[in-house]
Amino acid sequence: MQPFVFQRANDPSAALQALAARGGTTPTEAPVQALAGGTTLIDLMKLDVMRPTTVVDINPLSSAWSQINLDGGNLRLGALARMADVAAHPEIQNAYPVVADALKLAASAQLRNMASLGGNVMQRTRCTYFRDISYGNCNKRNPGSGCAAMDGINRMHAVLGTSDQCIATYPGDFAQSLIALDGAVEITGGSGIRSIPFAQLHRQPGNSPQIETTLAPGELISGFTISGRWPRSVYLKARDRQSYEFALASAAVALDMQNGVVRDARLALGGVATVPWRAREAEGLLKGQKFDDALAGRVAEVAFSGAVPRKHNAFKIALGKRVVARALHQAATMEV
Ligand code: FAD
Ligand code: SF4
Repeated sequence: MQPFVFQRANDPSAALQALAARGGTTPTEAPVQALAGGTTLIDLMKLDVMRPTTVVDINPLSSAWSQINLDGGNLRLGALARMADVAAHPEIQNAYPVVADALKLAASAQLRNMASLGGNVMQRTRCTYFRDISYGNCNKRNPGSGCAAMDGINRMHAVLGTSDQCIATYPGDFAQSLIALDGAVEITGGSGIRSIPFAQLHRQPGNSPQIETTLAPGELISGFTISGRWPRSVYLKARDRQSYEFALASAAVALDMQNGVVRDARLALGGVATVPWRAREAEGLLKGQKFDDALAGRVAEVAFSGAVPRKHNAFKIALGKRVVARALHQAATMEV
């Protein structure tokens, strides 16, 4: 780890001022980095993958930025709210079980106590070749250097949203619940606060896998919002071990049903794509239909119709379809 300057920001303007000093073409490679729970940033600094010269602790903003508000049927989550606190919130468990479960099934209890929602959605890929600097060829870490995963051990890699430059999986769980529920992300920057659909936060790798989000240098996520309530919702995650592990395949499902007929449906996939992945065409098959497991199977087929497998990860397509079908079944049959 290289030496760095540690600063503490006592209010949003101090944080933004410190971060405004950051150069670099992307927020992730900027020399000034915000520190929330530190469970991703410090890891990557120890590995020498991220080498900020200044780290700005934004935790003193917690009183303003860690609020959980359910107001008139809408939800607002502060970016510095801890994963564990949101997962354990009784009203979120009732009105947004997909959010509570996505957080509860992520990482370990110790990590969830420490880690923030803002840091969670900004976490970086677990691609081994990205995290190990002894591999020179990683387009995300060294743009233009190639991709060691393409012909390497790519069992954990993505089958959706890939490019010939990068096939790294987006690793988080919470993001799938946000994108499924049409969540928005509130961004605070030098020129004020703006809100964008969460679906517009992450960028597919395309020709520039090093640019992971649409955040501008110097901007911070201050919160997330979800409109409406989604009590009939589920997050299902398949992983190599139950104690804690990243998803091999996961599905966030939310249904609005009356008399067995689906009035509205949301479906997002995790562990299989380069970004949080909304399966819009597949969810469209559900609307106005009487739910049964045969329909769930057809939805799952369509969700993976564009998947591109590599040497070691074709199993994710079969697994992902089963996870989607089972999550739909669970959501359709749950008591609300
Ligand atoms: P930090 O490490 O503080 O920050 C991460 C990045 O986000 C930094 O670049 C930082 O500058 C930036 N950042 C932080 N806050 C903001 C903000 N408000 N606005 C803009 N940028 C910001 N996650 C899962 O989802 N599922 C899992 O199964 C899972 N398993 C894990 C297992 C292990 C062993 C570990 C170590 C991590 C695991 N994680 C998993 C990842 C973990 O959830 C994240 O590390 C954590 O959520 C990051 O939050 P943080 O507050 O610690 O972020
Ligand atoms: Fe790097 Fe992406 Fe290839 Fe992994 S998949 S080695 S992150 S370019």
